[in-house]
Amino acid sequence: MERVDCIVIGGGVIGLAVARRLAIAGVEALLLEREAVPGSHASSRNSEVIHAGLYYPPGSLKARLCVRGRRQLYRYCHDRGVAHRRCGKLILAVADDERATLRDYGDTARRNGVTDLAWLTPGEVAALEPAVRCVAALWSPSTGILSSHDFMQALLGDLEANGGMLACRAEVVHARLERGRHRVLVRQDGACSEFETRLLVNAAGLEAQAVAQACAGLDPATIPPRYLAKGHYFTLQGRAPFQHLVYPVAGGGGLGIHVTLDLAGAVRFGPDVEWIAEIDYSIDESRRDAFAAAIRRYYPGLDAARLQPGYAGIRAKLAGPGEPAADFCIQGPAGHGWPGLVNLYGIESPGLTAALAIADEVAAALGAAAAPADN
Ligand SMILES: Cc1cc2nc3c(=O)[nH]c(=O)nc-3n(C[C@H](O)[C@H](O)[C@H](O)COP(=O)(O)OP(=O)(O)OC[C@H]3O[C@@H](n4cnc5c(N)ncnc54)[C@H](O)[C@@H]3O)c2cc1C
Repeated sequence: MERVDCIVIGGGVIGLAVARRLAIAGVEALLLEREAVPGSHASSRNSEVIHAGLYYPPGSLKARLCVRGRRQLYRYCHDRGVAHRRCGKLILAVADDERATLRDYGDTARRNGVTDLAWLTPGEVAALEPAVRCVAALWSPSTGILSSHDFMQALLGDLEANGGMLACRAEVVHARLERGRHRVLVRQDGACSEFETRLLVNAAGLEAQAVAQACAGLDPATIPPRYLAKGHYFTLQGRAPFQHLVYPVAGGGGLGIHVTLDLAGAVRFGPDVEWIAEIDYSIDESRRDAFAAAIRRYYPGLDAARLQPGYAGIRAKLAGPGEPAADFCIQGPAGHGWPGLVNLYGIESPGLTAALAIADEVAAALGAAAAPADN
């Protein structure tokens, strides 16, 4: 049986950030990913937006870790040469009754420590984005975009440079606590092997609840329910009509079908929200009409024939349809009674933005907070 200091389950951006953070703090970290390549799920199926932190309830983990993580992320991208752009974002009211929502965003942002928002008139918006229609807008200059692929590559490079290791096609199938240490059963290439570890982090994304259920002895009452909210994207073929991110007001479990740009300037619209029971990344092309209707509210010149099916991602949610949005759940020993274990549940947006800050929280929960990595 192999022995390591720490096993991190799940090689998405969160598992990579956590394993890197622990490795930098001097903890021997082994990252286990069941797919052939890391980042195959939510971490490569998202909008790649660096969020400013204006939507989340003040004091929540989402608010605190988004704002802190955003600062860390810009610095990290700069220092490590991760492709990114601080392109800014417009949030639009397209009807008078949406102005109040923008005012709420402005208040929430201020309370979250985001102090750089500015109100724009329709004329000022037209100067920035001539194709956009609105009655008022908020401008968020600290919102940006990044290459999530580059980010994950850089995290992996740091992990390995600090003595950590990633094993792919390595699925955690069972764990149990024995004399204060975890015994973790891992299936790799059809064969099972057991590892012993002092620290265990469950960063399995959509499968976090399943991994927790596979921890023999963990009280099931501590495992929150999982809800899946799929988001589809359509890309816009041809010349891009936008230079900035453009968002309507949020609603219904998502941030509204918005404009995001990739680093080459190509436009994609999405994600919408479809509550689903099983993980399924197929694109339902019949959604084109609903997309076109939502987009035309702020981009009346849309030619729907230019919308092409893009990709889909699935949000790991802790609240179901119609319920108020839930916070991130970073559940350490105080939350479940199992020493040396941290479970990460409901790491939906803004998880990519907050990844470095989430990693600090996990390190602190495990008592490995020495040597802050990015502050
Ligand atoms: C549609 C959408 C749009 C989003 N847009 C943004 C955005 O613009 N900005 C932002 O900040 N955030 C955004 N997010 C959120 C962000 O993408 C996630 O918070 C982040 O990617 C979560 O990373 P993760 O590592 O927790 O999950 P994942 O990337 O899903 O990684 C979990 C990993 O665990 C592995 N795994 C599962 N079970 C096991 C097992 N038993 N053994 C070993 N490995 C296992 C999986 O294979 C997977 O690779 C968005 C999310 C979605 C879905």
